[in-house]
Amino acid sequence: MYTLPDLPYAYNALEPYIDEMTMHIHHDKHHATYVKNLNDILAGQDMVSALPVETLISDLSRVSEAIRIKVKNNAGGHANHSMFWRVMGVPTGTPRQARGDLRTAINATFGSFEQFQEKFSSLAVSHFGSGWVWLVVDHGKLIITDTSNQDSPVTHDQVPLVTIDVWEHAYYLKYQNMRAEYIKAWWNVVNWAYAEKHLSQAR
Ligand code: MN
Repeated sequence: MYTLPDLPYAYNALEPYIDEMTMHIHHDKHHATYVKNLNDILAGQDMVSALPVETLISDLSRVSEAIRIKVKNNAGGHANHSMFWRVMGVPTGTPRQARGDLRTAINATFGSFEQFQEKFSSLAVSHFGSGWVWLVVDHGKLIITDTSNQDSPVTHDQVPLVTIDVWEHAYYLKYQNMRAEYIKAWWNVVNWAYAEKHLSQAR
């Protein structure tokens, strides 16, 4: 059985960048539905549904072909949103930036933190349709990548450090069609401590 994790902060904690109503609908409705669907699909398969969701999506061949796409979509939706809540944090009033080894790796890979942000934002703005944009560790190297729908980098042997949800449900109430404004605001709530911790675990 999978369970919906509580947000690690209040629903209004990310204001004014991410609004309270969006957080309620996104967490309590969208994320909750992925969890419910996943449990329904795996009903009776106790060995599989006992696996951590990241383990489940790391090797989808564990489940039968008949349900594999549904498991991929809903387990991916559960895993991606669970990470998304944790990769955000209460805004500090000053721009949030990566520190330490992650900062060094970002500078070495992308030239500077600002160049990294530009490249990431540009992919997030241009990603076609529903999906996610990621900073991941791929074979020891940092790369920016995107996935469609609820596909996860974990399925592709990558370790995700940062992610933004670019499904319309993530921003439409506050930003309507202005995805670029949502992305610009989102940088104010990135929890770099999450990414720093996962970089050290990936190495
Ligand atoms: Mn979402």
